[in-house]
Amino acid sequence: MRGLATGLMLAMLVMPIGRDAFSGDVFRLLQLGGHPVKFGSPTRGAGASIGYAFVDRTIHFDNARNCRDLEPLDATLATSGIGWSALPPEVEAAFAQWASVANVNFHETASSRAQIFIGAFSGMGEAFADVAWQRPVDGETASIERSLICLNADRPRKRAFDGDLSVYNVRYTLTHDIGYAIGLDHPGTFGALMSFPYNERFRTLRDDDIKGVVAMYGARPLPVAGLSVQ
Ligand SMILES: [Zn+2]
Repeated sequence: MRGLATGLMLAMLVMPIGRDAFSGDVFRLLQLGGHPVKFGSPTRGAGASIGYAFVDRTIHFDNARNCRDLEPLDATLATSGIGWSALPPEVEAAFAQWASVANVNFHETASSRAQIFIGAFSGMGEAFADVAWQRPVDGETASIERSLICLNADRPRKRAFDGDLSVYNVRYTLTHDIGYAIGLDHPGTFGALMSFPYNERFRTLRDDDIKGVVAMYGARPLPVAGLSVQ
């Protein structure tokens, strides 16, 4: 018995839950069981390297509230007219938004080693994230064990950014839900990519998003001029 406590988080584009305020700034950290949560070392500012995988068959997650039966993305891609070959660049671009500003890296890996699973679900809502976490032995911050990101299989997505708010841009949606998956919440203000509701006024991280992810993982280290690795 490892004394694990699994926390479940409902997080979707249209219904924020878990809104304990984080004092001092406009971003908001995801709070589960009263703890901010992050991948890697449960220390504020510590970086992390996170593997992700697309599910290639339906996987059941007993401890998940959302995405409990995570399905392959084939149906939602077909509904959207987005081919499988077009999806990885969108996913990579979504992860890269976070990785470009904070000390957090993402790489695709096998399902057996993944910490973030990406798939689809059938039901209501646009997209969900589900975060399973481990209660800290000491300290305030908890470790995320794994996160799920799921898109509604029946809703069309688009790669365009055309102002039609009835169809969500797939990269924007993924970037927003990756934010949940790594420990951020709706900030309670407008103007951030983590803000609610969906909009198409901007498509990249805003200052508030950056402050939030840097608070948890530290800033992306700057390359050192003239440093060579032998
Ligand atoms: Zn949201």
